[in-house]
Amino acid sequence: MNATALADLSADHLATLLEEQRAAYAELKARGLKLDLTRGKPSAQQLDLADDLLRLPSSTKDAAGVDVRNYGGLEGVRELREMFADLLWVEPDQVVAGGNSSLTMMRDCLFYLMLFGAVDSERPWGREEKVRFVCPVPGYDRHFTLLESLGIEMVTVAMHDDGPDVDAVAALVADDASIKGIWIVPTYANPTGAVVSQDVAARLAAMPTAAADFKILWDNAYALHHLTEDEAKSADILTLASAAGHPHRPIMFASTSKITYAGAGVAFLAASTANVAWYLGHLANGAIGPDKVNHLRHAEFFGSAQGVREHMAKHREIIAPKFAEVDRVLTDRLGGRDVATWNRPTGGYFVNLDVVPGTASRVVALAKEAGVALTPAGSSYPYKHDPDDTNIRLAPTMPPLTEVTEAMEAVATCVLLAALEKAAG
Ligand code: PLP
Repeated sequence: MNATALADLSADHLATLLEEQRAAYAELKARGLKLDLTRGKPSAQQLDLADDLLRLPSSTKDAAGVDVRNYGGLEGVRELREMFADLLWVEPDQVVAGGNSSLTMMRDCLFYLMLFGAVDSERPWGREEKVRFVCPVPGYDRHFTLLESLGIEMVTVAMHDDGPDVDAVAALVADDASIKGIWIVPTYANPTGAVVSQDVAARLAAMPTAAADFKILWDNAYALHHLTEDEAKSADILTLASAAGHPHRPIMFASTSKITYAGAGVAFLAASTANVAWYLGHLANGAIGPDKVNHLRHAEFFGSAQGVREHMAKHREIIAPKFAEVDRVLTDRLGGRDVATWNRPTGGYFVNLDVVPGTASRVVALAKEAGVALTPAGSSYPYKHDPDDTNIRLAPTMPPLTEVTEAMEAVATCVLLAALEKAAG
């Protein structure tokens, strides 16, 4: 804790410390660890919380008397849509309950936008000379790879504690009609944990855009995933956009992937009723109905929106100590050394670690050699390119607490070693 910043150490002292860390790293390697902090997955203990799903639904009919085993009902079972409309602060008619992945819904929307255009487009995006997207960084790797797969160019802006640098966003979109959209993870962003403030959301909703069909892809994957009792409320982007005269600008996504089962939950899309009709119209060409049995199972399991909130409190009890442990080890081992900064997220699934610029790849490589898998450096940036080679995303939810401790001790050793190597030139 009271350690001295590397910059304040004498050359001799630095050399001694480098030798010490080399020895510590050799010891670490000799331990033959096999630990993984790469992906934000729920732990088995979290998944167990939802095992009553396996005995549901208790009926084959939904509240309207529809047989959920059959085809139809593309928009999803009404009672589940109502429940999540309540949780996402939208109207039930603005919500679609779909399959098990919101990322798939995002991909489908982008495909439809490229192939057919939006409700307010002059032509399909794919027929534009160039399509570009604003990407706050660091951000969610799969958002970026999805855009890259479609040939959509990415322009980065900085992510602050209250959301993207909205002045930079407004300046970019004001007179470049090729910029068609922006990714936003509004609540407990992946990986920075930032929560988009009401002011930033209002500006994004209202800002003039050269593209008349500009879209905010509002990925609220962690809307309900609080790590403290001080639960952040997401800005109501649909109402803000509608009030600003841009009702079709936002498309919201969410899912129960980290509420029930990551592989067998339910995903949601919420938007203006015209956008919902647009989405369902295109979806209808490739689907006759979603897995309504799973919808009903989820509706019965939760019982109400309050049931979802109570369920999330059980997740918090399991994962909050893991986040606290990440902070404890980093503080103990790196505090005062001036070799890293990290956040203490109040929700979501990640810790954002910034190490000495130019050393993130080295830290990840050192950790790998010592048996600790970290998300590759640069992953949280478009084209996997972190211009400063400084950012590392840590995902502590999946391993048991004892493994989080071991992995973080190893990470701290690697961060310090890489910083000392750099200081030594
Ligand atoms: N959006 C964000 C920001 C995520 O971090 C993740 C998973 O890590 C997803 C979406 C994936 O969601 P789903 O499981 O609903 O496809």
